[in-house]
Amino acid sequence: MNAPIPAMIPQADPGAGYRAQKEEIDAAVRRALDSGWYILGKEGAAFEQEFAAWLGVGQHAVGCANGTDALALILRGLGIGPGMTVATVSHTAVATVAAVEMVGATPLLLDIDPDTYTMDADELVSVLDHPPPGLPPIAAVIPVHIYGQACDLGPMLEATRAKGIPLIEDCAQCHGASLDGARLGTLGTAAAFSLYPTKNLGALGDGGVLATADAGLAERIAAIRQYGWRERYVSAMVGVNSRLDEVQAAILRVKLTALDAGNARRGAIAAAYDSALAGGPLAPPVRRASAEHVFHQYVLRTPERAAMQAALKAQGIGTGIHYPVPVHLQPAYRDRTPLGPAGCAETAAAAEEVFSLPMYPELTDAQVERICTALRGLAA
Ligand SMILES: *Cc1c(COP(=O)(O)O)cnc(C)c1O
Repeated sequence: MNAPIPAMIPQADPGAGYRAQKEEIDAAVRRALDSGWYILGKEGAAFEQEFAAWLGVGQHAVGCANGTDALALILRGLGIGPGMTVATVSHTAVATVAAVEMVGATPLLLDIDPDTYTMDADELVSVLDHPPPGLPPIAAVIPVHIYGQACDLGPMLEATRAKGIPLIEDCAQCHGASLDGARLGTLGTAAAFSLYPTKNLGALGDGGVLATADAGLAERIAAIRQYGWRERYVSAMVGVNSRLDEVQAAILRVKLTALDAGNARRGAIAAAYDSALAGGPLAPPVRRASAEHVFHQYVLRTPERAAMQAALKAQGIGTGIHYPVPVHLQPAYRDRTPLGPAGCAETAAAAEEVFSLPMYPELTDAQVERICTALRGLAA
């Protein structure tokens, strides 16, 4: 007789995050609905204050419709647009690059360090010193703290400050992570956070928030997100519509109270995976020594990816690939998007080999143990 097939453990499970706080979330949704005010009201303002306070002293937060818009709003607020280049990476959600083009700027895609999958700091320093010919001047840099771990931000900040260029942190995957004890999202000129349901801080729908210590920039962006209004019906500047609604803000206020504990749980799950992998064919993810990782994703790398994923699937364990096709090889971007001198070779190689294990705070101990047993059984 065949052994019973165990229930599939999904790679991500945003519904589990809702169920874990269901009573509080339902009450918050009811409160927002009963208020009779659905866009830019008390819940949104309270979420912005609570998020800014959680992030750090002196931070200002502005809610918006999604993480892509958070990046684009920062670029607009800084006056970045046509005739300017923004250096970023190809190993990211397409959203990062889409935001640059939304404001009319030209993306320049740099390669990654193959150990941490984050922007190659040496390549950035080199393109800032020797901008690629034929491109508009580099006016901003957007490194991505991918998978929950900091970029090599020190040399990037030094190089951008020396040139007077803003550095915008893409924090869509790193809510709560830090570098040298400082929270990510407080180190650059401004930071963009996605609140997509599967992110470490996730709404139950779309949402985004951006943060900056520059009060003037935050005020300008708050106007830009609503038609450039500082006062109602008066567009002081050209704006867009990108607002966080009251229901999502009320939900996010509840979710924010669980974020630090959720990140700690992710860390414990990562440590269990590390132990289970010891001595096997797959190496645990590399941690940057001075950084605290929040494991948005727990990413492994192997040329035998398809076989490893199939072996795990056969044991009821879902995996994902973040990301299977880098931006510069996507149909909409390839052959037209400028690359840095490294040509994104490490990016293309990583995309062929990376895959992600299940990772969310609501994984039960029994599920983690099942995953660890399967990892111990992986043969070279
Ligand atoms: C999720 C994500 C975004 C975009 O967020 P949306 O809320 O989906 O617009 C941007 N950058 C990175 C690195 C992401 O992971």
